[in-house]
Amino acid sequence: MRDVCIVGGGTAGLAASIFTARAGLDTLVISEGPSPSSSRTQSGDDGGESILARNASLENYPGFPDGVDARRYLQLTREQARNAGAEFELGRVTRAEPIDEDDLEAGFVLETEGGDPIETRRMIAASWSDSEYLVPLDVGRIQRGSKHFVDTDDAGRTAVDGVYAAGRLADEPHQAIVAAGHGAKVGLAVIHDSDTNFYHDWVAPEGYFTGRGREVPPGCEEIDDQERRARDERARGRLLEAFAEPLDEVPTMHPSVEQD
Ligand SMILES: Cc1cc2nc3c(=O)[nH]c(=O)nc-3n(C[C@H](O)[C@H](O)[C@H](O)COP(=O)(O)OP(=O)(O)OC[C@H]3O[C@@H](n4cnc5c(N)ncnc54)[C@H](O)[C@@H]3O)c2cc1C
Repeated sequence: MRDVCIVGGGTAGLAASIFTARAGLDTLVISEGPSPSSSRTQSGDDGGESILARNASLENYPGFPDGVDARRYLQLTREQARNAGAEFELGRVTRAEPIDEDDLEAGFVLETEGGDPIETRRMIAASWSDSEYLVPLDVGRIQRGSKHFVDTDDAGRTAVDGVYAAGRLADEPHQAIVAAGHGAKVGLAVIHDSDTNFYHDWVAPEGYFTGRGREVPPGCEEIDDQERRARDERARGRLLEAFAEPLDEVPTMHPSVEQD
């Protein structure tokens, strides 16, 4: 039984998983694999494929003054989620239902194409553009044209306790930073509802709290200057390595565009 299962390892799902895993929740991200037209099909990476893999140059994501290769961004975000403790599995979720109709606290079971069922106490649907597997749960879906969106409150909670939706599937605007921010917000709602005391998720300089006679709040950490420099060194090293060479992946084309 997982604490939280996130369906969809795209922009929103990855952000949610970083937060829930950092809060100590046992987090599984299950995501459909790359489409046949993706240059990642053979890579063996189990991170699933975001629609952002179709982007040619990601230029409106804060923090990258001249833009970033969208596939590189996704790769690094998956790595960050793994570092935080999230686990990944490839698979298409086909059905979700309560383990016990009369007791949603008992959690949910997710069926996957060809895989073993997954049991989870809470689930986040971050699976733009598929929500068919939620039909048995009656979460409330809104149809617009050929697309279905999941009806949620501000924090991504659906009409069913324990079931959340994040990103474009929750009718958020179609930009990566918005989906990521929403994923983070929904992750925080899951943490809150799990009674995990992890509100801030901050790293502060030594003395920031204790220097005022205050306890370091749950989810916060104080680090001294030596540790700060060590973390900065590690972070710069990883980014220099990651960006040293262009990535050998190309944008995934829209499935209806014929290619040679
Ligand atoms: C061509 C193109 C260019 C773009 N360029 C930009 C840009 O420059 N800037 C910008 O901000 N945004 C851009 N976007 C939009 C951006 O990619 C999306 O808004 C963002 O990725 C939405 O995030 P999401 O997490 O909601 O969905 P996604 O990132 O698509 O993630 C959904 C995940 O769910 C998985 N999934 C779906 N169904 C299932 C299922 N049944 N079971 C398991 N997994 C499932 C998918 O495999 C995927 O991993 C672009 C989009 C496209 C198509």
